[in-house]
Formats: sequence, structure tokens, C-alpha cells
Amino acid sequence: MTASSEPGSHRGIERRGIMLILSSPSGAGKSTIARRLMEEDPQFSLSVSVTTRGRRPSEVEGRHYHFIDAVEFSRRVLADELLEWAEVHGNSYGTPRAPVEEAMREGRDMLFDIDWQGAEQMQVRAKADIVSVFILPPTMEELRSRLVHRAEDAKDTIETRLRNARREIERWVDYDYVVVNHDLPQAYSEVKAIVAAERLRRARRPGLQRFASALIAQTLDGIDG
Ligand code: 5GP
Repeated sequence: MTASSEPGSHRGIERRGIMLILSSPSGAGKSTIARRLMEEDPQFSLSVSVTTRGRRPSEVEGRHYHFIDAVEFSRRVLADELLEWAEVHGNSYGTPRAPVEEAMREGRDMLFDIDWQGAEQMQVRAKADIVSVFILPPTMEELRSRLVHRAEDAKDTIETRLRNARREIERWVDYDYVVVNHDLPQAYSEVKAIVAAERLRRARRPGLQRFASALIAQTLDGIDG
């Protein structure tokens, strides 16, 4: 994936876009953190997944997900239109390939709210560009309480999600970073700090070579003069 001029870059120094993956068990606060990041950081585009899950009352087609049926989902898998896909809590979810390739071509950062199975597949495809963050709830009681208070899922759906939480939490060891969401503003600022540091990685900033060479040349000019 190629670098291009970074939108809002520091005086035109180019860098490669990052692919930020946020994963957590349902109810750990990941969606809230993702939403705030999208609202406040114009360098990010959100990867809008396709899913066979039914739409929740608060969800908007095309913004939260593209809601499709199982037949259309299979068609997209067979046509290789999904960068990764997985079964989560009994439904299928997948990441459309085209918007990701476009964002990376343009050097934009992309945010993915996907589970550990998706994160694993993405690591295989684009390891150098991936930054993965796992968000842990402070306690299981807190997780249950957040799911119940969200009140958007049926009771048995909540139970399924809690039962699956243990298996998901076990995957925390495979991520680059782990944030414990004791307090939402704190967890959010930790995610922002991760993003800021990852954007400054030397390996992501091939344009620095030219910048540093120019600095060195100016230093020599200064000495010569
Ligand atoms: P929810 O139904 O609560 O929106 O999402 C359930 C789980 O599916 C969450 O952990 C979410 O991160 C994950 N998920 C959403 N979209 C995708 C996707 O495109 N791929 C994968 N692998 N997981 C996804």
C-alpha cells in the first residue's frame, strides 16, 4: 500500500496511513471510543462492515453497517469483495475491501471495529499497516451492566454475548496494545496517545528521508557560509 500526501500532514511530510483495529467483547466501550475518534479526528475514515445481523433501532444503514442477507453475504465472500469476514454471536460480519484499498492508496487512516477473528485475518494481509488495540472492561459485572443498560438487544442475545465474552477476552494477548476501560475519558485519551505515537513511527514516514536530507544540506550550507 502506497504512501501519499498526508491530509493535515506536518508541512507536507508524507506518511503511510494506519489501519487501526479496535476489538473488545460487546459492551466494553469500544463503539463509543470509535465514535469519538471519528468525530474528532478528520484523518480517520471508518470501515463500515456488512452484516447479516438485524438492524438495531438506533442504527442507520450505511453508517453503522450495511445490512444484507445471508445470500448476498455469501455472494460477496465468493466474489472476494471482503478483506476479512467472520461469524460473531451467530451472525456474519465482514469488511468491504474496496474502501480500505482506496483509503490506503490515498494515505488516509482507517478505523476498524472488528473482532479478533477479523484482526487475525487483517494481520496476515497488511501487517505493516495494522495497529491493533484490545479494550478490556474493568469487571464482568460492569460488562453485563453496560449491555443491559444499552437495552438494544433481547435478553437471550445479551446472555449469548456474555457467554462469548470469555473466549473473546482470551485473545487480548494477540494485540499490540491493551486499554482497560475503567473510565471512558481516560480510555479514550489512551487510544488517542496510541494513535499519535503510531503516526510518528519512522517506518511510516518515508517522506522524512527527503526532509532530513534537506536539513542536513542546510546545515552544511550554514557551515560553508
Ligand atoms: P455488534 O453486533 O455488537 O455490532 O458487533 C458484534 C461484534 O462483531 C463486535 O465485536 C464487532 O467488533 C464485530 N464486528 C463488526 N463488524 C465486523 C467485521 O466486519 N468483521 C469482523 N470480523 N467482526 C466484526
